[in-house]
Amino acid sequence: KRRIAVLTSGGDSPGMNGSVRAVVRMAIHNGCDAFCVYEGYDGLVQGGDMIKHVGWEDVRGFLSEGGTLIGSARCMAFMERPGRLKAAKNMIVKGIDALVVCGGDGSLTGADKFRAEWPGLLSELVDKKELTAEQIKPFEHLNIVGLVGSIDNDLSMTDATIGCYSSLARICEAVDSVDTTATSHQRAFVIEVMGRHCGWLALMAGVSTGADFIFIPESPPGADWQDEMCKIVKKHRSMGKRKTIVIIAEGAHDQQLNKITPSQVKDLLTKKAGLDTRVTTLGHVQRGGTPAAYDRMLATLQGVEAVKAVLDATPETPSPVICMIENKIVRRPLLEAVAQTKKVAEAIEAKDFDKAMDLRDAE
Ligand code: ADP
Repeated sequence: KRRIAVLTSGGDSPGMNGSVRAVVRMAIHNGCDAFCVYEGYDGLVQGGDMIKHVGWEDVRGFLSEGGTLIGSARCMAFMERPGRLKAAKNMIVKGIDALVVCGGDGSLTGADKFRAEWPGLLSELVDKKELTAEQIKPFEHLNIVGLVGSIDNDLSMTDATIGCYSSLARICEAVDSVDTTATSHQRAFVIEVMGRHCGWLALMAGVSTGADFIFIPESPPGADWQDEMCKIVKKHRSMGKRKTIVIIAEGAHDQQLNKITPSQVKDLLTKKAGLDTRVTTLGHVQRGGTPAAYDRMLATLQGVEAVKAVLDATPETPSPVICMIENKIVRRPLLEAVAQTKKVAEAIEAKDFDKAMDLRDAE
C-alpha cells in the first residue's frame, strides 16, 4: 500500500487545486493513503501537522477554486541540504514513499535534486542516529512526480502548463475592458503582462485581442524598433482604428538586453505617435480567480496520470513530469524538461535569439 503525498510550490496558478484533488482521489481509489503537505516545501521541512493524512471529502470543492488551498511558499530551507535532510526525515516518520510536486521549474528542480540525494540523505539520517537502518529500509526508493503549475507556460516539453489558459483568459478580459475606454477616447494603452523569460502570455494575448504591437523576451525587436512601432501604430490608425493596444511581457528587452519598460513605450507613443497613452500593469490579477475549464481538465487528467506514474515506477525509472503534448497526457523525464527549459533562458542571456526561438518552436 503506497503512501502518496502532494504539495504545491512556487508561484500559485489556477488549477493547482484541481491537481491536488485528482492526486488525492486517484490515490484513494487505488487503495493508497493520501497526504497533503501544507505551504509547499516549508511543510515538508517542518513536518508534524504540516503533513496531513487526507480523505476523499477533504478535497471536496477544490476543482473550481483558484490559487492553492493547501498553500504555497518560497522555501529557503529546502534550497540547502540540511533543509532537505529534515524533509526526508519527516517523510519517513509519516511513512510517505512517493511525492507529487505541482509547481514551476524552480520547484521541479528542487524535487529532482531531492530524489537524486535521497540515498545519501537516508544514510546521513542513520549515521546521525536520527533514524535506524530498520526504519529507512522500506523507503530506499523515493518516487517523485512533477506536475507543472505555472501561469507563464514556461516549461519545455509540455504544450500547456496548469494555469496558463486561465491567466490568458483573464488577460483577454482585462484587455477587452481597456478596449472599450480606449476606443471611446481614441487612446493608446500599454499593457504589461507576466513572463520573465517566456513571452507566451504576451504573444497569445496579442493574438487573442488583436493587439497592435507586442514585446516578448525570446524575440526582441530590431534596433529601429521605436520607429517601427510608431509606424505600425500610425498605419493602423490611418486605416480607421480608434484604439491602440501594445502588450509587453515583464521580461521584455531589446537586442542588447536593455529592458524595454511600459513607461518608455508610453513616452514614445505620446511623443512620437502623438497618442493619448496610458499604462495598465495587470500584475497579480492575472494569477487570481477561478480556473478556466481547460486548466481544470488538465489538472485532473495530469493528477490522475501522476498517481499512475507512482504505481508504475521501478527503481530504474527516472522521475517523470506529466506533460501535455499534442493533446495527449504523457510522461517525460523531469530532469530533461527542466534542463531544456533552462536552455531558453541561457540562449536569451547569450543574446542568441534565433536559438531561443528555435527551442520554443521545438517545444
Ligand atoms: P517556481 O516553482 O514557481 O519556479 P521558485 O523558483 O521560487 O518557483 O521555486 C519554489 C521553491 O522550490 C523554492 O522556494 C525552493 O524551496 C525550491 N527550489 C527551487 N529551486 C531549487 C533548487 N535549485 N534546489 C532546491 N530547491 C529549490
